[in-house]
This record gives sequence, structure tokens and C-alpha cells, in this order.
Amino acid sequence: MYRERIWFFDFDGTLSPIVPDRDRAELHPACGRMLAYLLRMPLQHVAVLSSRRLDDLAERVPLEGVFLGGTSGTEWQVPGGHRMVFSGKPTRMLESRRRVLMPEIRRLADLPGIEVEDKNWSVALHTRHAPQDSSHDLDQRLAAWRPGARVRVFRGPEVHEIQLMPRVSKSFGVRMLCRFTKFIPGPGTLFYAGDDENDALAMRLVTRLGGTAVTVGERALIPASTVVKDQRELAKEVCRLADTAMGTLHHGNVSSLKE
Ligand SMILES: [Mg+2]
Repeated sequence: MYRERIWFFDFDGTLSPIVPDRDRAELHPACGRMLAYLLRMPLQHVAVLSSRRLDDLAERVPLEGVFLGGTSGTEWQVPGGHRMVFSGKPTRMLESRRRVLMPEIRRLADLPGIEVEDKNWSVALHTRHAPQDSSHDLDQRLAAWRPGARVRVFRGPEVHEIQLMPRVSKSFGVRMLCRFTKFIPGPGTLFYAGDDENDALAMRLVTRLGGTAVTVGERALIPASTVVKDQRELAKEVCRLADTAMGTLHHGNVSSLKE
């Protein structure tokens, strides 16, 4: 049966190839066409959910009609530009955690070539410009770290993402958007594509709710996900899935994405 569906995509490493300078990360053209294709279909909603800040993400996804989730979904921009920010008790807790944790994190990351990106709810420690020794030392320091408050550390390609509030992850982001939009997930109504451990949590949630998950990379992040090797393959797979759903509506009269 043809259903209303939310298609969630991570940005870096999923819709955009990983590049040496993260300020240069761009939506892959094949993924841009794929998103536009989904947006033209009836009842299909598109969400890009990133650990980047919302303003940073919005610049990189210049498409009308997309839900944009920044800092793992604590802030959302809905089609039309209206923004919703997660607030209340957790934001006050965040402040007190930051006072304890930020000095600890800065000490951990005080190694040549490690870049610290403070995203408020999380801190990314980028290793892509760091010499091998620094990356190795950082791994060891993180493994031995006993933080003054409970945190979650996600490993991504050339980055460690420290989530200052363990509850806040991409899985939380998916739930936030469903709640904001009063969308009730059911079998076949959610899709998630991602490339790192933070995405894996959301993928687990989505598949548990009867949705579909795709890993972009070498190895499946969760066993229930399909693996695609790059952005071009992701675009192809998503269009195939969307066409399959449309095909059941139009009795096989499906269109496909033109390269
Ligand atoms: Mg990613």
C-alpha cells in the first residue's frame, strides 16, 4: 500500500561525501536530484538530520520543502522557514553539564591537529588534519576518560562526537520531528540513511518501527540495513524504494530518476 512517509537523511558522509575541509561539504548532485524527486511525490516528506548547527546545515541544503534538523534534532526548521527549538528542563541541565565537561574536553583534545567544534549539545573532535600520533593519543585519552557527568561518545569517519546529554542523539531527533508534526509512525512510514554510530541509533529505532534503513559506507551499521557504497548508489536505492511504493499506487506505471 502507498503510504505517507518521512525520509530521513544524515548530511555529512550520507548526502555529501566526506571532504578534507568540512566547511566545503556540499550536497552531492545525485542526492540533490533524489531529494527533489521525493519532494515531487505525494505524501513524501524529506528530513535532513545532522549534528551540524541548523544555520550551517540550512546553507548546505538549498531545497524548498525540506525539514532540517540541526544538532541531532534539538532544533528543526520546517518547510516555510519556521523554527522549533527543544527547550525546558534539559536545556537547563545542559548548562550545568557544560560547566563541568567543557574544560575536561578541552584538556582531552589539547593535541596537535585536533580541532574542537562546539555545537552546544555536542562537541565534535575532528581528527582529519591531525597527525597519526595525535589521533592515537586522543583514542587512548577518550578510552581512559571518566567524565564528571554521563556522556555518549560516537565514532564517525575522522571524528569523535561527544554528546553532552546522553538522551540527545539522532534517534531523539527522529522522535522530535514525529512529535512536532504529529506524525504517527507505522510499518513502512519511516526511512533513515546514515553513516555513523549516532545514525545507527536512529536506524535501530526506524527499523524497530517497521521502517527501512540504509548505511552509506563499507559495513552495515545495523544488521537490518542495506549497504550502499556512496552518494550515487544511495540516490539510486532511494529512488528505487520510492518507485516501488509508487508502483503499487500506479499499478506498475513507475517513473525513474533521470541522471
Ligand atoms: Mg554522517
